[in-house]
Amino acid sequence: MCGGGGADGRGDGDMGGGILILTLPILDNHMHLNPSGRCLDAVREFARAGGTHIVLVSLPPWSLGIDINSPEDYRKVFDKILKIARRAQEAEKVKVFVVLGVHPAELTKYYGRLGLSRSVEIMRGGLEIARKYVVEGRAVGLKSGRPHYEVEPGIWDASNDIMRYGFELAKDAGCAVQLHTESATEEGLAGIAGIARSVGLPDGRVIKHFSPPMVKICEKHGIFPSVLAGENAIETALGEGTRFMMETDYIDDLERPGSVLGPKTVPRRTKQLIGKWGEDVFWKVHKENPEKVYGVEIDI
Ligand SMILES: [Zn+2]
Repeated sequence: MCGGGGADGRGDGDMGGGILILTLPILDNHMHLNPSGRCLDAVREFARAGGTHIVLVSLPPWSLGIDINSPEDYRKVFDKILKIARRAQEAEKVKVFVVLGVHPAELTKYYGRLGLSRSVEIMRGGLEIARKYVVEGRAVGLKSGRPHYEVEPGIWDASNDIMRYGFELAKDAGCAVQLHTESATEEGLAGIAGIARSVGLPDGRVIKHFSPPMVKICEKHGIFPSVLAGENAIETALGEGTRFMMETDYIDDLERPGSVLGPKTVPRRTKQLIGKWGEDVFWKVHKENPEKVYGVEIDI
């Protein structure tokens, strides 16, 4: 049936001369879900607001109550994330892509107990396991980065080594890497891009998570910004172009309500801005960009 019931997915043919109705996908490029948080309720809220695709990023192990003493322990973290992704997809009409890896703050947390070199070894091992999940088609990308707070030089260098290794593994697997890093500056982004290029990771495969709307600067350095959808950030980003994705970094932590954007933010912001900017720019942001960066298909 045409019309009446509203949009029913992306049409791919001529509908008898009628109007072709396409439903805009809406993707949140960085969300967390935790069984101890709102979990599926948050997904429902996202879906009801018009969200269709989630990039679900692995939580630090302690958020899931998992202790890391060897690389193999990361399997517990990753399997839990994959299970949440499956449940979210079963419960709501959303597609969930998973990004797995290590959190830069883990190093700070582990090295006192395990020693720096063993901690690095374990985190590198965790990334290797994440890479296997990508190769097996269970995840679409890796997560790595370096601390967003000041650390001593030894920790900083070790963090950069882990991140570089993440880039090598991503190059190997042909996938993207989401980065959690210090606040973005052009100098910092150029440095990260230099590390990625030094191991041969193609431009556009490094995603700066929690990015300010630095669309042009990111493009210049081959970094893909995932812009935090707060206040006027998306409008500012659109003023510079459409080479970005949108995210909330929803952390799903009941003890920290309001510390991040809620699950409705990306769909709501998108719909608010369509009036002024039109839908075309959001087809780029929510479909073409993630398809290119992750090598996935975004369809409804
Ligand atoms: Zn996050």
